[in-house]
Amino acid sequence: MIDSHCHIDMPAFDQDRDAVVARAREAGVASMLIAGGVDAEDGHRRAVRIAEALGLPVSAGIHPHEAKLATEAIYEELKGLARERRIVAVGEIGLDFHYDYSPRAVQREVFRRQVRLAREVGLPLIVHTREADEETASILEEEGAKETGGVIHCFTGGEELARHALALGFYISFSGIVGFPRSETIQAVARTVPEDRLLLETDSPFLAPPPHRGKRNEPAFVVEIARKVAGLRGDTLEAVGAASGRNFERLFRRR
Ligand SMILES: [Zn+2]
Ligand SMILES: [Zn+2]
Repeated sequence: MIDSHCHIDMPAFDQDRDAVVARAREAGVASMLIAGGVDAEDGHRRAVRIAEALGLPVSAGIHPHEAKLATEAIYEELKGLARERRIVAVGEIGLDFHYDYSPRAVQREVFRRQVRLAREVGLPLIVHTREADEETASILEEEGAKETGGVIHCFTGGEELARHALALGFYISFSGIVGFPRSETIQAVARTVPEDRLLLETDSPFLAPPPHRGKRNEPAFVVEIARKVAGLRGDTLEAVGAASGRNFERLFRRR
């Protein structure tokens, strides 16, 4: 199985990053994708450097929280990075109307622009969306995201968003939230998403799944998420884990 989305480039892992990766491998996690954010000092370079050192896949994109920091220089950097061999996706990009850390108009524009950029460089998308189901779906449709494909990461949307995403050829990735109380809608989607469109992720260091809630999350815990999703689907842990690994390879294979 593969953790399709984590942030082990973050300082929370500076003390024990190698041990965290080793624990994941021991737990049966073959690989993990580092979703690279924009660092105030050196853009996306930090995440790429760490991924390179660990031999892991990495993405680069302007997170909706950071949309207000977008500059022409960062777009240029993204275009250049897309040619590097470790970079497998543009993301995470999208809309977050829960926190609204960047003005919504800015979030929309930065999201649209990066979907176009992904089409230009031929990479799939990692989409972050919270409390913005409808607008996320329409922007993906309007900007031609069907051409790039991608994943709705850390899915917290409704069944309508899931339908739109699947129609665009997208994958749906479940995090520890699928096991939280009051996640009935997410659980309903986890039960019905086709096996060949399902991904798993920890979003470490955030969102530790039960029984680790409240602790720092780490990629080894993706096994708990696989267990939860398998239970919902009436499937085995092994089958769900293997499907998530195959799907990951299919989606993020360099074109
Ligand atoms: Zn996210
Ligand atoms: Zn993330």
